[in-house]
Amino acid sequence: METPMSDRRALNDIEQLDKRHVFGTWAYQSQVQPRQITESDGVRFTDASGHEFLDFSGQLMCSNLGHSASGVADAIAEQAAEGAYFAPGFTTEVRAKLGAKLAEVTPGDLSKTFFSTSGTEAVEAAIKIAKFYTGKDKIVSRYRSYHGATAGSISVTGDPRRLAAEPGVPGAIKAPDPYAYGSTLDPMQSLDYIDEMLMLEGDTVAAVLVEPIVGSNGILVPPDEYLPRLKEIAHEHGALLICDEVMAGFGRTGEWFGCDVFDVTPDIMTMAKGLTGAYQPLGATIVTPEIADYFEDTMLTHGHTYAGHPVACAAGLAAIETYQEEGLIERAGAIGDYLEARIDDLAEAHPSVGDTRGVGLFRGIELTRDAERRVPFGDREDKLSKDSNVVDEVADAAFAEGTYVANMINTLIVAPPLTITEDEIDEAITALDVALDISD
Ligand code: PLP
Repeated sequence: METPMSDRRALNDIEQLDKRHVFGTWAYQSQVQPRQITESDGVRFTDASGHEFLDFSGQLMCSNLGHSASGVADAIAEQAAEGAYFAPGFTTEVRAKLGAKLAEVTPGDLSKTFFSTSGTEAVEAAIKIAKFYTGKDKIVSRYRSYHGATAGSISVTGDPRRLAAEPGVPGAIKAPDPYAYGSTLDPMQSLDYIDEMLMLEGDTVAAVLVEPIVGSNGILVPPDEYLPRLKEIAHEHGALLICDEVMAGFGRTGEWFGCDVFDVTPDIMTMAKGLTGAYQPLGATIVTPEIADYFEDTMLTHGHTYAGHPVACAAGLAAIETYQEEGLIERAGAIGDYLEARIDDLAEAHPSVGDTRGVGLFRGIELTRDAERRVPFGDREDKLSKDSNVVDEVADAAFAEGTYVANMINTLIVAPPLTITEDEIDEAITALDVALDISD
């Protein structure tokens, strides 16, 4: 994930210390330019030299509650004082209640959760559970996807970040995506492809794993009938459906989860990021009662020291209560319409905006060097390149204008805290309006 920080400014003492002793992620270390953040409030954060930025991407599409969720901060402090950590064999009130809460807010009969500490671990658990439950070894996922950086999750990831880890874990097979703007396949044709693929693989596929609305690979929203039909196809071939809700989950779409937009209940669902509003690292993998029952007399050979960490669970429980009490999920849907209209204004004003898409407060602005022929500014492999491309430069320019927006390959990813106001959206759109002159 590119973050607009590639400028060569002089680093202060803390930033230099950090650069010397801490690895930057997904980066050539010579290019890492850490920026010290000293304050945050609402949708804004401030660096050590006093520059304030509007957070138009919720950091890495995870700060769904913004930067002043005092209920979550208080719950963390209370739990840390009461009992910071107990081994997973013990339970706490917050862990039990969070498990029950997730059964309440997730769709259908999903009811029992395995806790971990990140999105990638949530996906690893989903893959293992699917393989144990079905007794099969293969996972079908899609090319334009990201599922995490650890061995299993990066193997099922389709985007170029997987290349350095290949050949990866055996049994990871990739399918094309529902990407109406940029693929030669129509979205529903891409589904036929998966159907045929599962048929040709015989009865050997444990699960089909998808982001219901693709996140970092460009906010790809499938047609309404896509996800329900995908579930049918998976089941027809004896495979489970796993929905990776790590980025789309917790209100971003105006629904609790991306799969709620399509009224689909998967067999297994993964969560992280917005689960705690990013106040604590926490991952969760929830399954149906049938899958849960299977492990009554078959050992669940999986676990982590910090599975169900009390402080993280306290944060998760308080975050979900905040979404509920402040009506943030519905709010994201309503203010998402305003965001969409303002992004449409940008598209009208800037020829380099090729496509805009999304749901609620989860939107992508895809840039193109030739709107008619839909030519991207860079290759997908540019993600691995040392050179910045025009889309990076647009994000850098927005940052210089005081708005932080993440970008990936050809797409600016707009995913602000669900608390954002119309005035704040206007402010960010003004910054993007200036920045997009670079790509026009
Ligand atoms: N799954 C999806 C859909 C994601 O977007 C991400 C991260 O961006 C992950 C999994 C991995 O999550 P984490 O970075 O917490 O390991």
